[in-house]
Amino acid sequence: MNRAAPLAEGAGSGAGDAERLPVTTLKGVGAALAEKLAKLGIETVADLLFLLPARYEDRTQIVPIGTLRPGERAVIEGEIQLAEIAFRKRRQLLVRIADGSGFLTLRFFYFTGAQQAQLQRGVRLRCYGEARRGTLGLEIVHPEYRRADGPDAQRTEDSLTPVYPAAEGVQQGRLRILTALALTEVERSSVRDWLPPALLADLGLPTLAAALGYVHRPPPGADLVPLAIGRHPAQRRLAFEELLAHQLSLRQLREDIRADAAWPLAPKGDLAGRLLAALPFALTGAQQRVLREVRADIAAPSPMLRLVQGDVGSGKTVVAALAALAAVECGFQVALMAPTELLAEQHWQNFDRWLRPLGLRVALLSGKLTGRARQSTLNAIRSGTEVPVVIGTHALFQEGVRFGQLAFVIIDEQHRFGVHQRMALREKGLGEGRVPHQLIMTATPIPRTLAMTAYADLDVSVIDELPPGRTPIKTVVIPESRRDEVVARIATACRAGRQAYWVCPLIEESDELEYQAAEATHAALVGALPELRIGLAHGRLTPTKKEAVMAAFKRGELDVLVATTVIEVGVDVPNASLMVVENAERMGLSQLHQLRGRVGRGVEESTCLLLYRAPLSPMARQRLDVMRSTNDGFEVSRRDLELRGPGELLGTRQTGLLQMKVAELTRDADLLPRVQHAAQVMLERHPDNIAPLLRRWIGARERYGKV
Ligand code: ADP
Ligand code: MG
Repeated sequence: MNRAAPLAEGAGSGAGDAERLPVTTLKGVGAALAEKLAKLGIETVADLLFLLPARYEDRTQIVPIGTLRPGERAVIEGEIQLAEIAFRKRRQLLVRIADGSGFLTLRFFYFTGAQQAQLQRGVRLRCYGEARRGTLGLEIVHPEYRRADGPDAQRTEDSLTPVYPAAEGVQQGRLRILTALALTEVERSSVRDWLPPALLADLGLPTLAAALGYVHRPPPGADLVPLAIGRHPAQRRLAFEELLAHQLSLRQLREDIRADAAWPLAPKGDLAGRLLAALPFALTGAQQRVLREVRADIAAPSPMLRLVQGDVGSGKTVVAALAALAAVECGFQVALMAPTELLAEQHWQNFDRWLRPLGLRVALLSGKLTGRARQSTLNAIRSGTEVPVVIGTHALFQEGVRFGQLAFVIIDEQHRFGVHQRMALREKGLGEGRVPHQLIMTATPIPRTLAMTAYADLDVSVIDELPPGRTPIKTVVIPESRRDEVVARIATACRAGRQAYWVCPLIEESDELEYQAAEATHAALVGALPELRIGLAHGRLTPTKKEAVMAAFKRGELDVLVATTVIEVGVDVPNASLMVVENAERMGLSQLHQLRGRVGRGVEESTCLLLYRAPLSPMARQRLDVMRSTNDGFEVSRRDLELRGPGELLGTRQTGLLQMKVAELTRDADLLPRVQHAAQVMLERHPDNIAPLLRRWIGARERYGKV
């Protein structure tokens, strides 16, 4: 196997290594403090520099008390006019301070005798804190203060004061001292700028030293507004660098994989043609295009890594099946991995229906399969030729499952699998030095620029067209108080021979409550609609029981399926045309869209009823409005991104991508096209800068190239 050296160990000894200086090299950092810092992920001087302030305080100017507004944080200076202990519910020290323009009260609930002795009439104080409206006029509770009349009457700060994110056990004052020391290392150029000057000039971004200096110590008069929202050029420069590092890392991973060998799978016979002829429908233009893209990839002797995005119901499965036939014709095996047993079974039914007439055997490696039957299936899989297509959950890639001739892996619903699992899978398939091609299907559409960043290690195809003849789903938003009407609609639909889902989603993050809600709803519906067959599926059932209920619904033996969100992904019951979602106001857009995608799969017009409990938060109202206004998954996803940010959109845990130090994908999305361009420039003209850049931003654990 021809694998590039791990990135981190590449170039870049020399001056840049100084940034790997452990924090203990800074004055005043002993073992105890180093340990606390390590808990915050700060081990080196560079780590300190990339811990950016959460906000800033302006202590550069003394504000006249008379101009102070409630809510304002400011430095004031004045003379104590009155200090007294008061008892208002609690014992407290009240200190009135005046500066000629006005007065305010300092209120202390906790104070020592020494403090009380110091805070005497006539003493000049400089205080910092947030002014609030109190019973005695403006007041500051527990201000920071010091005497302003002593021998060392203080000068004001000469930069804005950074406030770092809550750092347990490490005080702000200490962090300020440490970052000041770290900044002197930057001045000494031991923390190097890996972005070449020409590139920075092109981008109109400041140098690393300028950016770090600014974000840690903004000059007096700095505009706090862009700083507060992370849009100052100094912050953007750092975010840019981090995004660039991630982009380069994913591209490197992709290069690594592309450098491996794969079996070229060019169709040799007419299997695909025969399947197409047998299908009761013709492929949409989008399906044809994506199939062409996939076929071109797998015909090459290097592994495909392609993500197929397509809205729910866009017909991804048949595209995968048609592509798989190329592998079969070349004498190889195909494995399809589904996120749940039920989906695996559903895929197996489809594949079996499609491929059996072509004389091909499709195996289902289900959890239910045990004993001798399991062993004989495993043997057949190992033989390679007996079963050209194997379908299962991630159990497919566990110990004990050996493929004779695996050349093509299809993963359904990618968002449940991460970069790391993809890598593991690739290792699993390795045989004769060849790596299987990978096709990943997802119904979680994400906007293009985001996809190019999040999935920089993948090529992306989009099925952006639904099969013709689908009647759009009608979405109605209804308050809980009109539940009776909803029940009546269920009755009507079921009497007409249709089926309905009633989903009780997660409430307050508790399985127990979710289960109770589903049970209660089930009982209420059984009471209200005695003539209907109503099933219940929730996460508390054993997988076997749960799937038995869902399978009964699929066979039409149940009219209504009351369920928790267990039915979210992929289940296909064309006769179900009504979907009720309770507590819709608490759910995220992509989850709502996935749920809604369970209906609208047949020719009948489908309806999705979103039940909410008033009052609606503005955010929840917007989400429900989005659901009502569009059926288009890409549009839903775009709005979701706007409303919520990409973390959950992609599944932070899975991508690893989004655990970033400085950058935030939503906020910095506009940088992405330039990040991609810059990545190209770095690869072509500054390859030596890449390794140290990745070392700086991408921790050893998250480094994508290694599993
Ligand atoms: P998804 O992309 O959500 O996985 P599926 O692959 O499950 O969608 O397809 C949804 C349904 O649409 C299936 O019943 C499938 O057979 C059907 N289908 C797929 N392609 C077409 C097409 N071109 N025309 C009509 N029906 C199609
Ligand atoms: Mg699917």
